[in-house]
Amino acid sequence: MNPIVRGLSVSMLVAASAACVETAPQPDAAAGAPPQDQAVLGEIAAAINAGQLHSTIQTLVGFGTRHTLSETQSDSRGIGAARRWAQSRFAAISQDCGGCVSIVTPSQSVTGARIPTPTEVMDVVAIQKGVSDPNRVIILTAHIDSRVTDVMNATADAPGADDNGSGVALVLEAARVLSRYKFPATIVYGVLSGEEQGLYGGKVLAQYAQDQGWRVETDLNDDIVGSARGQSGAGDNSRIRLFSESTRETETPKETRQRRLEGGELDGPSRSVARSIKRLAERWIPNWRVDLIYRVDRFGRGSDHEAFNALGYPAVCFRESAEDYRHQHQDVRIENGVSYGDTIDHVDFDYLARVTATNAIAAAALAWAPPPPDGLKVSGAVTPDTTLSWQALAGPQAADLAGYRVYWRDTKESAWSHSRWVGAVAEAKLPDVVIDDWAFGVASVSKDGFESPVEYPGPLGAFWRPVEVEVSK
Ligand SMILES: [Zn+2]
Repeated sequence: MNPIVRGLSVSMLVAASAACVETAPQPDAAAGAPPQDQAVLGEIAAAINAGQLHSTIQTLVGFGTRHTLSETQSDSRGIGAARRWAQSRFAAISQDCGGCVSIVTPSQSVTGARIPTPTEVMDVVAIQKGVSDPNRVIILTAHIDSRVTDVMNATADAPGADDNGSGVALVLEAARVLSRYKFPATIVYGVLSGEEQGLYGGKVLAQYAQDQGWRVETDLNDDIVGSARGQSGAGDNSRIRLFSESTRETETPKETRQRRLEGGELDGPSRSVARSIKRLAERWIPNWRVDLIYRVDRFGRGSDHEAFNALGYPAVCFRESAEDYRHQHQDVRIENGVSYGDTIDHVDFDYLARVTATNAIAAAALAWAPPPPDGLKVSGAVTPDTTLSWQALAGPQAADLAGYRVYWRDTKESAWSHSRWVGAVAEAKLPDVVIDDWAFGVASVSKDGFESPVEYPGPLGAFWRPVEVEVSK
């Protein structure tokens, strides 16, 4: 859309919006809303290349082991060689896009239950800086380290094709494709270490994000996403599981009390991101389902997204649809005719390509969309109407803003069922919608129709909480 047409449509929207909130729900088209379809997302999904994913995993497996405690000096074996290779891939991607990606390697010296002597845990991180709102950051992460049956064995071959060569291949391929585009927000691609020894690489990057003062809108973490055949033999290559926390780990006791009274158990910002991803991916990837799992992760298991959740950042984790535990965390061997070990022959590259496309279009759509609004509130107790109000986005955050869309749904439902475009306003009244009976949310919408995640009102749903002043030690 050219700037003149955009200018016209925005003024029409502002005029239309005041009237719109007074009328019954109506199709967006009638209210002059931005387009709801962004064909560029289909273009991104189609650009993901299964051959590239195969070649990355083959190379990673070729390093023998990528155990966090393995050697770092060799150029052909161990975690050091693997990290340097990932860095060289990011460098090549940057060269192809005229230097659009910069590389940092945040690290910490770590000791712990699974790291007996101080060991450097280093992440390899590529940063594609946003053009107008660079401090807002969407992060893609996957751990590169691998293991066998004995988690302390740093020398045996640990191919880690699926856990987590698949995630690393996904992050590199997303970077290759998304680096061809420019986004208002920053996209960060993180290849992490130390996951199998205690989720250390996630902590290193989450801490780095906090130290940089990044406004982290979300971390999309991928860990074991390359195979869809479970141990029972059943498999479904048309679905991916997406795990998300229900409410923030850093929720305060006061917020917990309010949630107990008013609800919102299903509406933390991580969940809101997960719902956005489901909507986008199922629209643009044929025969594909994103199954939201209302849990932080599988039972007794975890990954690097938890380090982001621990600091209060929205973060979600993708997991393949069905797992075969004989191919994870196992010495490579044949036992009673059964093959054990995480070898490349179990990876389904067409499936992994769809998971990669899911991540790539989600990161792109979130980075193209404006941020969710700040200071969102809902009111209307003891009245027949509900009113949502928020701080209108301003400055660089509003560069591409067209306005806002209000959502509501039955409190028992998972997905938003009702919505209304309300235009470039900071308050919207829903006449005859009683606050007690519905869950509410608001999304910011760009002129091209890219939508932020739907934010739930109050501190429970806020993507960015007011900065709390830390008492100096
Ligand atoms: Zn893993």
